[in-house]
Amino acid sequence: MIADGAGANTLEATRLYLQGLQPGDARGGAVGSLVVDGPGFTNAMQSVYPLDTRTVPGSDEQNPDVVYDPAQNYDATPVAGTNAAGYQRGFAGYDWNRATYPDSGNTASAISDGQKTYNNAINVDGSGDAQRSTAELAHSLGKATGVVSTVQFSDATPAAGGGAHNVARSNAQDIAAEMFGAGVLDVIAGTGNPDYNDDGQLRATPNYQWVGPEVWNALRDGSYASSDGGTWDLLQDRAEIIAAGSGEPTDERLAMLVQAFTGSNFYRSGASPAGETEIPFSVPRLDTSPTLTELSAAALNRLNADEDGLYISIEGGAVDRAMHANNFGRMIEEYIEFNDAVQYVVDWVGSGESRATWADTLLIVTADHDHLLFGPDGATIPYQSVLPDQDGDGVPEYAWFSNNHSNQLVPLYTAGANAEDTLALSDQRDVVLNAEGQAVAGSGRTYTDEAELGRYVLEQFQLGETIDWNSTAERVLANYAETGQWFFS
Ligand SMILES: [Zn+2]
Repeated sequence: MIADGAGANTLEATRLYLQGLQPGDARGGAVGSLVVDGPGFTNAMQSVYPLDTRTVPGSDEQNPDVVYDPAQNYDATPVAGTNAAGYQRGFAGYDWNRATYPDSGNTASAISDGQKTYNNAINVDGSGDAQRSTAELAHSLGKATGVVSTVQFSDATPAAGGGAHNVARSNAQDIAAEMFGAGVLDVIAGTGNPDYNDDGQLRATPNYQWVGPEVWNALRDGSYASSDGGTWDLLQDRAEIIAAGSGEPTDERLAMLVQAFTGSNFYRSGASPAGETEIPFSVPRLDTSPTLTELSAAALNRLNADEDGLYISIEGGAVDRAMHANNFGRMIEEYIEFNDAVQYVVDWVGSGESRATWADTLLIVTADHDHLLFGPDGATIPYQSVLPDQDGDGVPEYAWFSNNHSNQLVPLYTAGANAEDTLALSDQRDVVLNAEGQAVAGSGRTYTDEAELGRYVLEQFQLGETIDWNSTAERVLANYAETGQWFFS
């Protein structure tokens, strides 16, 4: 489960907001802390930096400034003034973060296929060669596989988590065609619906940016078949998606393209003007959009039909969109949406309704990358954490230092089978000492790296198994070699 863009301060902001609610508040049940703060979760961090070989001419060596380096991250040398985007520069460490950030393509790919790659890549390495993903491995082992998001299903994180391959995330129609056509995925859920706008209303003219007209029209009339002959059941209506969360699931593969184009809720009308704080939930969320929990329930109910087990990637995709927009209130909304889904998954694995048990299921709750969000005095106090509400609006105090990503470590929580192994993986220490020999603020944590985590997950799926890669994944790769296309036409 990936909350896109959610760094330590995103989680802290959500905790503080929830702690400020009264018991019995409309967000009741989640008051006080996050699910990952509860029992059973390990707690570490992971580094997120992209592959960057461009700055050492003639070699394939990683740019030494782009790896995660605690000394550069926590460099508290003051830097006066504002940058071109109008943000206070603050400290040398903030400048370093602004210069070395990854995107969701390479970070989600690293978690999915265990390889570092460049920004914008989807499950290909630095040379553009396809890498085998966890989704493909799980499918080769006969497991059910799915991908769920609150944003476009063919954008970077669900594309990588869903086992697609592309040299550029912007080739979204090709990515969509591979996700539906390759035969790897049993469930696809997200936005990108060509027929709806971001207020859940039908458009006059379809927009095929995220799925091409051939695939979309065939899905709509029920004629679409994957390369292996599998057919898709398409749900768009929220009530039908909720109904799919229980009872006997469809025999077909399950596509849920919710009635929204870019995000299930983040882009709805009524946002506060830039620079003003929007109070979370002050603009009603859309009745037409299923929650991430409702999508996850329908996905898990479908995947649970397979007795060989499952792999699923669930993304709270709009946390990142809210952070790009510097919309702190909607960021908190979207992280709460994600946290609710984590609670659902925890309950589901522990329930008698699922084939999964904590003895055979590993749950990973993390982010792909962070942004540059600190406390209100973050321009003068390096790496100041967001602070509890001080002006009575119920919203914690904060300041933005970018409208883009950063290279900071992100939280990594795991629960279930062999979860403690991920603590052993986290064998690097994020420590910078001050003149008195004490760890500077924010530092001191242990961390692993996303590619290491990705390789670990691939290994976990292969424990005690005989791998027959010569299945869909091989056919996808062979088809690419022959036709130059990632999908079957
Ligand atoms: Zn982003």
